[in-house]
Amino acid sequence: MSLPPFQNFDRCCLHTMTTKPWSLSQAVAKYAAAGIKGITVWRQWLDGWELPAARRAIAEAGLAAVSVARGGFFPARTAQGRQQAIDDTRRAVDEAAAIGAPLLVLVCGADPGQPLAESRRQIEEAVSALLPHAQASGVTLAVEPLHPMYANDRSAINTLKQANDLCDRLAHPSLAVAVDVYHLWWDPDLREQILRCGRSGYLSAFHVCDWRTPTVDFLNDRGLMGEGCIPIREIRGWVEEAGFGGFIEVEIFSTRLWQMDQDQYLHKIKHAYLQYV
Ligand code: ZN
Repeated sequence: MSLPPFQNFDRCCLHTMTTKPWSLSQAVAKYAAAGIKGITVWRQWLDGWELPAARRAIAEAGLAAVSVARGGFFPARTAQGRQQAIDDTRRAVDEAAAIGAPLLVLVCGADPGQPLAESRRQIEEAVSALLPHAQASGVTLAVEPLHPMYANDRSAINTLKQANDLCDRLAHPSLAVAVDVYHLWWDPDLREQILRCGRSGYLSAFHVCDWRTPTVDFLNDRGLMGEGCIPIREIRGWVEEAGFGGFIEVEIFSTRLWQMDQDQYLHKIKHAYLQYV
């Protein structure tokens, strides 16, 4: 399916991490002035804010608080470590609710000192423990599968099928999935699993960036859309075929791009969004 490009930024959301040099105040002002309509706030951008004031700043600029990133990192070899992760994610739920964001993204975690299967069991246990609080707070937890290169220590949930299966097993209205092209573009079952995700009502977030060749840093060398090999528009087509009509979130960790003048970078992001998303 060949989709037409976007003509405006009504569905465009930026992660504060994308323009890392900017504070929350700067990001809010710059995104709004650029016609961007949504913001996903990484928790460290809330440091030093009274949460109601952050909520007002975002709303008064005309931005939607799309989600908060992130909770998770659940697996640990000690019960104390696992409890700390649950407690911290509970605080992240509260932060999301306080700034008016309906979604909290979960990077589920993994512990290289134990089998993956045990990490996966612990993730399911932790998510299950958090769901009642999330529901009472009006916040949906979005499990984000991460590329398998992070299976050692960032996420033992590595495919969309695993995330869909987890949602099936827990069967809870406050549990959903975030699809990020960076993590999932390589999966031969991607279209099928995206359609399943949408059909099941789990598809709640869509993150875009690109995959550079060579990638010189596993964490902080993501590409701007169009700089790499991910068929972003084709995947957006699948996401829309699955019924998703929410924000397209530009999430780029890049030491290289953070070194640019961020105003110029935002201009490039807008151009890339229209051309490649
Ligand atoms: Zn993401």
